[in-house]
Amino acid sequence: MTDHLKVLLEGYYGLSHVRLYRMEGYESINFKVVARQGTFVLKAYRYQEETFENINSENKVLAFIKDHKDSFPVVIKNLQGKELTVPDDGDMSYFFRLSTYLEGTFLAETDKTPQLLSSLGQFLGQLDQCLFLLAPSVFKARKIHWDLDHVLMNESLIHYISSVGDRKLVEYFFIQYKQHVQPHLYELKKSLIHNDANDWNVLIRDGQISGLIDFGDMVYSSTINELAVAITYALMNEEDIVEKASLILSSYHNVHSLEPLEINVLYYLIAMRLCTSVCQSAFHKQSNTESDYITVSEAGAWSLLKKWISINPLYAKRKWLAACGYHEDKAGVQVMPVEKILEKRRNYLSKALSLSYSRPIHMTGAAFQYMYDAEGNTILDAYNNIIQVGHCHPHIVSSAHKAMARLNTNTRYLYDDLIEYSEMLLAKFPSHLNKVFFVNSGSAASDLAIRLATIYTSKTKVAVLQHGYHGNSRLGIDISHYKYHHKGGSGKADFIAEAVLPDTYRGMYRDIGTAGALYADDFVRSIGDDRDIAAFIAEPIVGCGGQVPLASGYLSRVYEEIRKRGGLCISDEVQVGFGRLGHFFWGYEMHGVVPDIVVLGKPIGNGHPMAAVVCSEEVADAFANGMEFFSSFGGNPVSCTVGKAVLEVIAAEELQQHAFEVGQYLKYRLNELKERYHAIGDVRGEGLFLGVDMVVDPLNRTADPLLAKVMKNELRENLILVSTDGPFDNVIKIKPPLCFDMDNADRLVKSMEEILKNYHD
Ligand code: PMP
Repeated sequence: MTDHLKVLLEGYYGLSHVRLYRMEGYESINFKVVARQGTFVLKAYRYQEETFENINSENKVLAFIKDHKDSFPVVIKNLQGKELTVPDDGDMSYFFRLSTYLEGTFLAETDKTPQLLSSLGQFLGQLDQCLFLLAPSVFKARKIHWDLDHVLMNESLIHYISSVGDRKLVEYFFIQYKQHVQPHLYELKKSLIHNDANDWNVLIRDGQISGLIDFGDMVYSSTINELAVAITYALMNEEDIVEKASLILSSYHNVHSLEPLEINVLYYLIAMRLCTSVCQSAFHKQSNTESDYITVSEAGAWSLLKKWISINPLYAKRKWLAACGYHEDKAGVQVMPVEKILEKRRNYLSKALSLSYSRPIHMTGAAFQYMYDAEGNTILDAYNNIIQVGHCHPHIVSSAHKAMARLNTNTRYLYDDLIEYSEMLLAKFPSHLNKVFFVNSGSAASDLAIRLATIYTSKTKVAVLQHGYHGNSRLGIDISHYKYHHKGGSGKADFIAEAVLPDTYRGMYRDIGTAGALYADDFVRSIGDDRDIAAFIAEPIVGCGGQVPLASGYLSRVYEEIRKRGGLCISDEVQVGFGRLGHFFWGYEMHGVVPDIVVLGKPIGNGHPMAAVVCSEEVADAFANGMEFFSSFGGNPVSCTVGKAVLEVIAAEELQQHAFEVGQYLKYRLNELKERYHAIGDVRGEGLFLGVDMVVDPLNRTADPLLAKVMKNELRENLILVSTDGPFDNVIKIKPPLCFDMDNADRLVKSMEEILKNYHD
């Protein structure tokens, strides 16, 4: 081909002594041409009428901006005075364009100094100001995957991304784009933009941006997209991206002013450029058209996308508004001052509700294991209690959204979701636990579980563990020692039998080999021959009791004795279920028992208000005594869809295994900390359900609630969420979304260590 091209360059352009060097190209085949007459760029395009017309229009733009120094390629006319050469050798398959070659170093090869970043902003501002004056011509009709105004074209490519963990990030940002940008698409200022000021297209000379090449992606689009692209690539592998982007923005704004709306959508547009890049890479890889040109920035794009979720969008918006001289209240988010919210809470809500942390947090958003507050901080969620697969997980959000837009009704009608979800959920249990009831809260579920047991057994009493919690309903409080035994509680009801918490750390029996049996013996002795116990209810690891795993061997013995007396055994899996424990999907498996009734809540809907009770056919049949069971919301199609989505994500992202690995690592790191700091008396729990018991000294194991409180509040100030619990409120409770990773674990332990260090200084 090169010989043919040399002949062409000599014949059509009068060049001599031509040497050709192949250069990267995407839609054209590109050569650097070194000839006696100078250095040029030759682009060969496959002939199509549309391409021909596009390049013609591109030439008009290049001619229009030609006066602006030597910053852009200048098209060289051939000897016939034409800007595009269609060889008259009868071969219409290619046409050619020759242009000047711009000297300089690429931005990609240079340190991104503040001066260069400012210079980039100024350069693009000048270019866009100039392009703003041009009529859009054919560009208005152009629709390409790389135009952020048409970014949704890439959505159908997401499935080419092979890693589920990666895919969820892209899906998350598509949802954010639809929420935060798409509704404003028609308000955003439009103009012709270069649309590909990536760092391999931007040239530098004498410490300043000197030129921009490759106008092949030029579109008529939202002007702000120009900056979204430029910032994405200029800062892809940099630290302090938001701060550095401010430099580009402010210098751009000085030349070509930005509106607050343009600044407010920029965070999402940068994310979408990254999403476009990774979608295109994934697509081209599988279709074997892999081009280095497309995949060159793939690794950087993934790394920035992962970093991007740890940046609070509000933080970015405020910084960028300020950089352009706008007040932060232009961020388009009404942020009520904390004092005002507190006052309104006092006005409208009961004092019985509590708030976490000495300095309450005003949450404004969240993504996976990160939460965003109104101050612009990103908070690492090491304990949100309810979210299982990650905040705002796109599969949950989009499934719920679609279901809600389709149908919401109740179990008195037939619909598929109820059947599909019941089948999926019950598949997680031994075959004889084959009936499920759907309700809306853990409280309603434990309440129903007790009703099922009392009706099935025709007995009235309930045996509970000390320090256990099962719900906020009337019956829920009656079976929750954590409530009835504490402030405001009215003490143990007559129908309750209490068992001492089988705690091997601070309890009466501490030898792990014998404690379970001894605690069980005591309990059996206390109930004697009582034949009126309908149910025994317990959590496998008692959360409110301070993350206390029941002593080994305890539950099997107690279950046996309860059943001997005609009672049923209920496992409350509201805190520990759905894979959180890593090794076990359900907490009861950890104790080698199978309950008669299982109570499910919190994680079942990843924050969507749903809960369930699972039991055997016999128990469910006894309950069908003529009285209808109806829950207005329980089992509705939207909730069933959400439930299905949660199970799908746990399976697809292998979150149980992830909880096992990260949990084991975190426990190991916490135990290391315990070796160094005597204030930690015990580290316990399974998977990502851990407790750190703070003590005055490890020998007498006296609880240190003050230190626990300091730890919780200091961690909050360090932007990490944990909680405290237990009878003395001295146990740090760690229960993050299951996507919590090793780096997150390291950060948590490091922060805890710093607090411990300072506390003892
Ligand atoms: N059981 C346990 C073990 C719980 O932790 C809770 C809530 N903390 C409940 C039941 C009650 O669930 P809900 O708040 O959804 O009513």
